[in-house]
Order: sequence, then structure tokens, then C-alpha cells
Amino acid sequence: AARPDTVRTRTTCGYCGVGCTLEAVTRDGELTAVLPARDGPVNRGHACVKGRFAHGFLVSPERLTEPLVRRNGRLEPVSWDEALRRVADGVRQAVAEGGPDAVAAISSARATNEENYLVQKFLRVVIGTNNVDNCSRLCHSPSAAGLTAAFGHSGGTDSFDDLERADCLLVVGANPAEAHPVVGARLLQRVLHGGARLVVADPRAVGLAQHADVHLRPRPGTNVALCHGLAHVLLAEGLADEEFLTHRAKGLPELASLLEDYRPDRVFELTGVPAGELVSAARIYGRARRPAIVYGLGVTEHLHGTDGVRALANLAILCGAVGTDHGCGVIPLRGQNNVQGASDMGALPDFLPGYGRVADPGARSRAEEVWGASLPERPGLRIPEMFAGARAGTVRALWIIGEDVCATDPDSNRVAEALDVCPLVVCNELFLSGTARRADVVLPAASWLEKDGSFVNFDRRFQRVRPALSPPGSARSDFDILHAVARALGADLGCPAPADALEECGRTAPVFAGVSHTRLDREGAVPWPCPDPGRPGEAKLYRESFATPDGRAHLAAVPYLPPGEQPDDDYPLVLVTGRRWAHYNSGSMTRRSGNLELASTDWLDLHPDDAARYGVGDGRPVVVESRHGRARLIARIGHEVSPGEVFCAFHFPASGVNRLTSGHADTVTSCPEYKVTAVHVAPA
Ligand code: SF4
Repeated sequence: AARPDTVRTRTTCGYCGVGCTLEAVTRDGELTAVLPARDGPVNRGHACVKGRFAHGFLVSPERLTEPLVRRNGRLEPVSWDEALRRVADGVRQAVAEGGPDAVAAISSARATNEENYLVQKFLRVVIGTNNVDNCSRLCHSPSAAGLTAAFGHSGGTDSFDDLERADCLLVVGANPAEAHPVVGARLLQRVLHGGARLVVADPRAVGLAQHADVHLRPRPGTNVALCHGLAHVLLAEGLADEEFLTHRAKGLPELASLLEDYRPDRVFELTGVPAGELVSAARIYGRARRPAIVYGLGVTEHLHGTDGVRALANLAILCGAVGTDHGCGVIPLRGQNNVQGASDMGALPDFLPGYGRVADPGARSRAEEVWGASLPERPGLRIPEMFAGARAGTVRALWIIGEDVCATDPDSNRVAEALDVCPLVVCNELFLSGTARRADVVLPAASWLEKDGSFVNFDRRFQRVRPALSPPGSARSDFDILHAVARALGADLGCPAPADALEECGRTAPVFAGVSHTRLDREGAVPWPCPDPGRPGEAKLYRESFATPDGRAHLAAVPYLPPGEQPDDDYPLVLVTGRRWAHYNSGSMTRRSGNLELASTDWLDLHPDDAARYGVGDGRPVVVESRHGRARLIARIGHEVSPGEVFCAFHFPASGVNRLTSGHADTVTSCPEYKVTAVHVAPA
């Protein structure tokens, strides 16, 4: 039995986008355990090693507890008043020298909905610029663009619960067993005990692949060709849903014409996937009664990532497997806890909360009425453009909230250059990260176990975040920091509490009007769209019609185009980056939580043939070099990767993995091509 002085706080995991419901157990103001909630809508009593155990970072002696300001080249502790004065003076100077567009902010998928809402309101209302973006730019921005174009809404079409009905799972470019372990386990359960057939499409032998009926291993960067090959077979073998295509879809003649060029034998040449395997996979998906597509960053983080999402969506549309009882749609696995919510709240340079375009006078005037301010109409800068602007001298104040961009953004040498020349860089951070070390002002921030608000998880589900602890020292939530900076500039952002911010967001964005903290406290989780407080949100979308202008699902006839880099004699291997199970993104929290005992370094997976060719020994240090930079890793030799391909994670900034990755980015959304970098390796 729990001791009477024990407090249990129900909250949502702040690591990945699955959104497990957790109970944080505290006694005398200290965290004693984090337990998975048995009635959690997604996790049902389960959690992975990160949500369950990776909370030692909370009491790390490295936590920032007071503001820091750069003086004579050194960061020194100061009072909040002085730090805020420095931020306000720097912002005023930037505006005086370059106008409102000289200020930019990078918001965070780690922050709550309410904080993201406030960031974009601060930029638009207080500063007068649309220069606000969030780190979904680096992961799922192609999902937002691709799913919106195909179906109408910027989110997955179906919910996690729909996956429980699926009799076929097509898992593409995702490794849920490591990156989204609770979903990975549920998918596996569906296969092992629910009779679902499984097709995995991934260059690597990821965990789920060993249970797959078919494992397709396309060369990195060839997803569009692979999907077109599957679509070709669906049409050629009469597996398409003619009635759905006639009444609910658009674009079949153009796609059918394009697909003539994607016969299985040609797709083999483009992707390396044998024709027989391609045909088998297409038959499994096309013959299923309730197929589902689940995908990850292996689809989006490409030069043609949005095309990859569209090509995947084509498969569901061809089979009538979206917006119907027949299928379970297309579901992106979001990487960070609040990737979906950060964009939903309008922390984007071209969209207001709820995805009204800033260029649309109707959407602007609705927000203007709620905010009582005139809004800028020109779309703002995306994250890579902010760094380019800083290097060019047009961005003169950059506020980075909860991101270690020097560790996580591609071609990171160039990112560091941008920060070094920008006159004012402000960071909200838990730790003195590589990015914070280059800042002019560092503001100590609260973590997900110390703040109040909500997240939107991977299946568009709002869930509450509640503080189990107080932040250390004088650290504050990003929500409070935003209010304080606004006040220092003589402005009032309104909505004093997070609950007020979500309520106000619902007035600017009708799609969220039915969601409130009160309702979330009562019901636990509410999916959007939810325009009415008296009606449930829509977990499964498009039953009546699609949310496109003509109400139809749109097929995309996008040709396959090669990735930005190809291996050559100098750089003969293709590097793919991703996550490992024990750590999370830049590792700032998991590396300080005891997870080092599980994995204490980044390593490079390479095939035995390549190890022999380049003289690399198992467990030995290896230097990896690309056209952009160099990193040092430990080699791990095995068959998880194919010959000619290498893989590593990016959890240890010291190894410098993102010095290797290129500046190539999705042509539609600017999402970096983390999944294809040409490299060579040599013993260190
Ligand atoms: Fe947290 Fe994701 Fe693990 Fe669930 S699966 S406990 S949300 S990290």
C-alpha cells in the first residue's frame, strides 16, 4: 500500500509521440517512481525504458537553475530581471535594425501545446513576424504536407485503436520496436496473436522485420519507386477498389499512366527489391480486408519526403483503405512527444493555429479578432532559412526553445556558424547544451514532469500534462518565460494560465474548440477534429468525405527522383541515421538518467563485407567522413545493414554525427535528408 504522504500525479510521457499515460509518484517533493497507468488509453499498463526509468536527469547536478548571460565572452549567472532585460534590449535592437522579420524563434515539439501556442502568438502579436517554426520541420513536416494534400487534414487518418482491427500491417521506414516501443509491442502482438499479416519495408533488418511475411529492403532514398511498384501491382492484378476510386478519389488516370513505368523488374533496378518480393507484398496488402499503413522518418527525411508520403497514401487510396470500414488508413509514428501538437498550435511560419494559412485573409481575420492585433501576412522563415538569415545578417535575434540545434540539425558546422554571428541568441534549456554554450542568454527551463498543459500524441489525441514536481532553483516553464519576456517588452500575451491558452486557441481554431483542460481532466483523452465541447472528437477520419476542397482523396502522380547524394569512389557508402531504444534524440535527458548502463556510446553498424573491405574491426574506433564533416564512432559489424550501407544514431553529440549529414532537404517542406549521406569509413 502507498504511504499516506505519497502523491501520484497522472501525466503523459514526455519522450516519444506514443503518449503513454504515466503516474509520477512523489514523496516529500522527490520523485520515487514513474509507473505506467493501467488504464492509459494507448499504453494500458505498459511503458518503455525511457518513460519508465529515464528520469534521473531531473536531479542531475548539471540542471540549469538560474539564468546565464554572456559577459566578456563568458556565460555568467544573473538574476531573472537582468536576463529578461538583456533579451528585451536585444530584441528591440534587432527590430530597430532590421524590422520585425529580424527576429525569429524555433519552438519545440518537446514543449506543451499551450507553450507552442504562446510562442507563435508572441512572434505574431508582440513582434509582428511569422518567423516561427518548430522542430517538426526536421522530422514530420512532409507528413503534414503530404497527408493534407492527399486527404485534407495534417495528421494520421486513423487512431491507434484502429490498428487493433487491422489484418495487415504495412510498416514503412519505421523501427517502432526501438523508437516507439509500446506501439511496436502492440503491433507485434497483433501479428503474433491477432493473425495480422506483416510487411516491413526498411533498408535495415529492424526488430519487426524478423516477424514479417515479407521484408522489403529498398536502397535508402528509393521509397517513391518502391511504393509505385506496389501500386503498379495493385492495379495490374485487379486489387484496386474501383468503386472507391470512382466515387471518392481523384487522379487515377494520371497515376495509372505514371505507374506504367514502374513494373516490378524496373523497380528492382531502382530499389534493389526483387520483383517476387514486391509482388508478394502488394498482394498481401491488396488482398487484406482491413489493411493499415504505419510509417516513420524513413519515409519523410528525404529530398523527396513529401512525395514519399504521397506515394504511400496512394496505396491506401487505391485499395479504398482510408475513410472506410475496409481499411485502417495511413498513420505516421511521430518521433517526439508533441510533434503533432507543436504544429497544430501554429508554431509554423505559414500556418496559424489549426492550420489556417497566414496568407489567407479569412484565417488571419479570425485570429486578429481573438488577439486584437493586426497580423503579418507574409509567411515567415523555416528553420534552415533562419540559420541562413543569421549567417547573412538578416536574422539578428534568434530564440531557441528546448532544442540543441548544434547536435540535432544537419550540417551542424554551418548551424554553429549561424549562432556565432547572430547578435542575440537566446536558449530555453534544461542543461548547458552545445547550443546553449553559444547563446548570449540562457534561460533555465522546466521539464515535462514539472509543467502544466497538454500534448497531442501521434494519433491526434490531446492528453493532459501535469506537474509532479517543482522545477529546480529559479527554473521556469517555457509558458512562464514567454509571459516574462513579453512583459519585459511592455506587452501582455493574455491567457495567464495554460488552460486559458488552450481555450483561446479553440477560439482561433474551430477544429480544437471542443477541447479544454476541464474536458481532458474528465475524459482523459480527446482526438481532434473536435469542434464541439458536447461531442466526441474524430478518432477515425473521413467517413463521410475527405477534407480536401472537393471532398475526395487525391492520388499523386509524382515520379521517383534520386536522393540528393549518391555514393561514389570517394564516398562509397550510404549513411542512414536513426534512434536506438535506450536513448532519446540528442540524449540530453537519457544520458543523465542511468541509461548509459544500457548504451554508453553511439556506434556505427556496418556489414561484414564492408568491414573487411575497409579494414574496420568489430568494437574498434572508426572515422566516418562525408562531404560535410567527420565523426568518430565505434564499429559494430553485423547483418542489420546491407552491404554498401551504414547506420548510426545521434544520441551523443560528442560523436558529431550531424557534422556528417548534408544540407539537402525535402523540396516541399525543407525537412533534412538525414536518411541518405554518402560517406567513407576508415579505422581511427
Ligand atoms: Fe514514453 Fe514512448 Fe516509451 Fe511510451 S513508448 S513510455 S510514450 S517513450
